[in-house]
Amino acid sequence: MKLYPIFASLSQRAVLVVGGGAVAERKVAALLEAQAQVTVNAGTLTPRLQQWARQGRIAHRSDPFQESWLERVWLVVAATSDRDMNTLVATLAELRRIFVNVVDDAALSSFHVPALIDRAPLTIAISSGGEAPMLTRLLRERLESLLDHSLGALATLMARLRKRIRMHLPDLAARRGFYESLLAGPVAALLRQGRPDEALAVAEHALSTSPLPAAGSVVLVGAGPGDPGLLTLRALRALNEADVILHDRLVGAGVLALARRDAARVEVGKQAGCQRTTQDDIHALLLEHARAGRRVVRLKGGDPFVFGRGGEELQFLRANGIPYEVVPGITAAVACAAYAGVPLTHRDHAQSVRLVTAHCQASRDVPDWAALAQERQTLAIYMGVGELGTLQTRLIEHGRAASTPFALIENGSRTDQRVVIGTLGNLAERAAAHAVHSPALLILGEVASLAPSLAWFGAPPLGASVHELHAGAPIMSKASGVAAREGLLEAIHRLAC
Ligand code: SAH
Repeated sequence: MKLYPIFASLSQRAVLVVGGGAVAERKVAALLEAQAQVTVNAGTLTPRLQQWARQGRIAHRSDPFQESWLERVWLVVAATSDRDMNTLVATLAELRRIFVNVVDDAALSSFHVPALIDRAPLTIAISSGGEAPMLTRLLRERLESLLDHSLGALATLMARLRKRIRMHLPDLAARRGFYESLLAGPVAALLRQGRPDEALAVAEHALSTSPLPAAGSVVLVGAGPGDPGLLTLRALRALNEADVILHDRLVGAGVLALARRDAARVEVGKQAGCQRTTQDDIHALLLEHARAGRRVVRLKGGDPFVFGRGGEELQFLRANGIPYEVVPGITAAVACAAYAGVPLTHRDHAQSVRLVTAHCQASRDVPDWAALAQERQTLAIYMGVGELGTLQTRLIEHGRAASTPFALIENGSRTDQRVVIGTLGNLAERAAAHAVHSPALLILGEVASLAPSLAWFGAPPLGASVHELHAGAPIMSKASGVAAREGLLEAIHRLAC
């Protein structure tokens, strides 16, 4: 069936919805958004429909459906679970040339309700004519994640300037070029940055002088700890728009695979000990690409402002007049805690968390060991694998109990995640016994004792007793059920052999 798409203005126009269940409720909600005058005909209503009726937002008719009601309405929605009833409503509406939508029945419907992406005043509607509703849903999700919410503000700004743009740029091609520059250039960026007044001023200025230059810019993006699913929508959008991606070594292939295909990818990894790209080199690259008018994404593991030198890069960009944005990422402490089942705070165990770096060269100051050794706080220690011995000795010297539990998380959130648990007294020994490598994050504090019973991702913690592992959670919910199932299969295999 080939459909003719229209956007209907229903403001103050009467619409009848027959049916009072969950589906009817969804339809009514959308109609109310469009300011329609909705009457719902149903014996019983969902609690929310009842509430709307009480508030006078909809009219409710509980008596049996009457044909005469159709005389005053513009549209009808048949959303009952009774097919005969829906057919009757559809047939009577058809006779009166009133558009009708029958829920889940494309053949009986004379209008379809598309999947929507709402960036008011901009609306994108998708329909497969009822043929492939799952495809429309998937497309909607994809577009929803690609289109920034500030697009609505851009549409409003364009509407405001429309007459002036037409007057200043009578030539269609010039006008089109100007609109394109609004979409890609600094005006859209300022709107994303929540600065609508400046966006308007820049657009007005560009209109009265010359077109907007294709200015280069930098987006400092946190890529999270490794699992691509932990990327934010904003990070995904920035990756989709990038001309160049300067990424750290820690950023995994899974994340990079989500970036625009033809974006240039440059690894600017720095490794402790063997410096491959200096911070100055990175600054120079940022400047070079941005000055060439490119959209640069500076992609960092975790969050750019947590031991990521993001602050230094922004200072450099500001000093050189390069516009920038920052997209936060999920920092290793937050991700590792979640993926190891260790809540960073807990009413019974810890009221505060400290994010600490154990890398002595990275922090120019000597750590305040006495403060770090205080009880009832959680320490999330970054970059610590080579320093675990010192950490252990110093913290115990300054009074932290040797019995304080820890969870050491290697490759947190990745498929090869390992968690080693123990107590401060055997920290270095356990890490060495299990050959823990970078990247690894140490969580030290009473909360770490919860790891064996709350673990859910990847292999169960190493160093936990069988008793600890089975306390608290049913075995199939542990380690995503995968490790447990694999263990079971292995046991069956052994028996069979
Ligand atoms: N900006 C990053 C931290 C960079 S410092 C963030 O916010 O996460 C690098 C250190 O972060 C590593 O040495 C390690 O301690 C920690 N780290 C980063 N990713 C990790 C991961 N997937 N698993 C465990 N630790 C990680």
